[in-house]
Amino acid sequence: MESRYAVVHYAEIGLKGHNRGFFERTLARRIQERLQDVGPASVERLPGRLLVRLPRPIPETAWVERLRTVFGIAYFAPTIPAPKDLATLTEIVLRHLPSEPVPSFRIRASRADKSFPFTSQEIERHIGAAVQRQTGWRVNLSEPAWEAYIEIAYNTALVSFARHRGPGGLPVGVSGRVGLLLSGGIDSPVAGYFMLKRGCEVIPIHFHSGPFGDWAASEAKATAIVRRLRPYGMAPWLHIVPIGEPQRAIVLAAPAPYRLILYRRLMVRVAEELTRREGGLALVTGDSLGQVASQTLESLAAIEDAATMPILRPLIGMDKVEIIERARAIGTYDLSIMPGEECCQFLMPPKVVTRPSVEAVREIEARVEIEALVRQALDQAMRVPVGEAASVLLPDAHGSEHPRGA
Ligand code: ATP
Ligand code: MG
Repeated sequence: MESRYAVVHYAEIGLKGHNRGFFERTLARRIQERLQDVGPASVERLPGRLLVRLPRPIPETAWVERLRTVFGIAYFAPTIPAPKDLATLTEIVLRHLPSEPVPSFRIRASRADKSFPFTSQEIERHIGAAVQRQTGWRVNLSEPAWEAYIEIAYNTALVSFARHRGPGGLPVGVSGRVGLLLSGGIDSPVAGYFMLKRGCEVIPIHFHSGPFGDWAASEAKATAIVRRLRPYGMAPWLHIVPIGEPQRAIVLAAPAPYRLILYRRLMVRVAEELTRREGGLALVTGDSLGQVASQTLESLAAIEDAATMPILRPLIGMDKVEIIERARAIGTYDLSIMPGEECCQFLMPPKVVTRPSVEAVREIEARVEIEALVRQALDQAMRVPVGEAASVLLPDAHGSEHPRGA
């Protein structure tokens, strides 16, 4: 169905009590941003739901493509606003019956306005009977082949025919800001996705080996990943930090097996400062316990020792196959597996310590001027816009790709 209107039912934000207004307004803003290319959209807050209006009708698929990436939405439906009048509502349903016969159907009604003279059940029976008279179709309450939804709000009624699942979660912006350590790998984009899902504004920070190695490729890959996460609400900019020189200093001073831990401690310090400047309160990484040497509990502890902010690790309990599945679903996988230099690859030691002690790590780190290295990295950090979301490619349900909005 082509429609100018959609009704949006939200997920957990209904539970937030007196904060509800803030949650609803934030969700409304995220919806407006996501519909920018077909907008401007206006969003009206009805009891327990939002009514979205566009200047022109768009196809159902266009609604689905956009709203399925807006966190905070439980489900939504293109809808027809109508007067709160049973005869009119019946007529709208009869006008929108499927053109081919269906084996069974069901009418579902819900009332926010309890002063409406008919109960939900009476509405369902009345309209259901009219559909039966006209078509002879069977009613099936448990597994209908076709459904119509009638919602009675205060100032309007809404008639919808297909409900679509939203991504759940909380609207981006209600949970505060975090800095995401974004490599070019598979895991960290997925970690960023999960933080967006819980309502955080996510600021990506990417480290590369510049001025050495193929840092331009690394930078391009990170930028492409950020751009692809834009539809989910990822920040439209990222911090890019060349750390080739500080890494050299570490190579000269530290035994090979400890280098990786020291690189990570350097990253944590730099990312923390960049995050603080943006008003953020925590760091996020793509660590998954035991996946590689730097992700044992001992290594995580030795890295976290350099941090003062909490380090959040949303993938900590996930298996690689689960992470890959999610990366595919959100469209970052094919970018992550593109050949591109892992930061630090050419400075990567052949052997990595798997159970470092915090004391040993601190002692080795004391051989370099760590504060000076952090400052050097911060001096070279750049805050770069990622360009417009219009170029974003999202995989469709079958995993192939089409330009957004096509
Ligand atoms: P990923 O697939 O996210 O790169 P990984 O399994 O390769 O993860 P590591 O390379 O050990 O694991 O990195 C662990 C985490 O450290 C990453 O998930 C990311 O959050 C952070 N990290 C690693 N390298 C970088 C980098 N070059 N820039 C920013 N963050 C990084
Ligand atoms: Mg990696």
